Amino acid sequence: MKVLITGGAGFIGSHLAEKLLNDGEEVYIIDDLSTGRVENIEHLQQNPQFHYFFDTIMNRFLLAELIDRADIVFHLAAAVGVRLIVESPVRTIETNVKGTEHVLELASKKNKIVVIASSSEVYGKSRQIPFREVDDLVLGPTNIGRWSYACSKALDEFLALAYWKEKGCPTIVVRFFNTVGPRQTGQYGMVLPRFVSQALAGEPITVYGTGEQSRCLTWVGDVVQAVMQLATHPQAVGEIFNIGGTEEITIRDLAFLVKDITDSQSEVKFIPYEQAYEEGFEDMQRRVPSIDKIQKLIGFKPTLDIVGIVSKVKDYFQKNGVESC
Ligand code: UDP
Repeated sequence: MKVLITGGAGFIGSHLAEKLLNDGEEVYIIDDLSTGRVENIEHLQQNPQFHYFFDTIMNRFLLAELIDRADIVFHLAAAVGVRLIVESPVRTIETNVKGTEHVLELASKKNKIVVIASSSEVYGKSRQIPFREVDDLVLGPTNIGRWSYACSKALDEFLALAYWKEKGCPTIVVRFFNTVGPRQTGQYGMVLPRFVSQALAGEPITVYGTGEQSRCLTWVGDVVQAVMQLATHPQAVGEIFNIGGTEEITIRDLAFLVKDITDSQSEVKFIPYEQAYEEGFEDMQRRVPSIDKIQKLIGFKPTLDIVGIVSKVKDYFQKNGVESC
């Protein structure tokens, strides 16, 4: 099977590429390294089944050529990370909307299977826990930059489903819930690599707000396995799936857990949101997926608990050096 991964040098994309290559598939990736990193795929370069194109998905000519060669397209190229979204809203909106438009338009001409990566961010401020795929999306006002990400991803979802309904292009939408693991950078604001790097460096662990907000961390290996299974499942087409861990933890507890596991002397420091992001910043209080739908279809079940996940991320940073964030 030939597979194209847009954003294949990114955190999730590089793990997906690695797994597909291990399974003997031929993998093409396109990445402009805007948030991806060449180090993420260095170890794959020797594999003759691996083909890397350093370019943007706005290059329609190349994208058309690569989609033509592929049996399945995983569209992971996107502007992600709350910090990046708040600081570069134009880039976020344009990459996420125009990029997806290109991929869908070209894939539809050739009738290729497309998996579109969306985000749990689309549930916005909804308090209907756990979030089910059919639930209402509750987004904030347009003058608060953060919501542009949720909105751009929601539009991607509408587009993907419209291409299936109207043009018969087989699309599948996946909503990722706080995916974590080795190679994720804290540079764009993601909490776990930041906490682990801070703890290992003996710097303050920066909890934003009260730390009472909670998340369900999702192991990247589980995400990769799930998207691969969905991509080849006929009943997944035209559907939306949550992919997430179900163990909920407050950010405050996560900070202390990281401190424990890394055996760190770091202080846990509370920083007001307006200082961490921008004036008027709104956070999501809880984000818990219902995984009934994906469990029923492919038997999805998280394989690592939070302690296991944090330990693996700690091992990664100890081996590769911590980041300064
Ligand atoms: N967070 C934090 N300290 C940090 C980075 C993030 O307390 O150094 C918080 C952030 O405000 C949010 C949670 O951790 O409540 C998860 O943030 P992340 O950016 O990883 O993902 P999000 O769920 O917000 O998309």
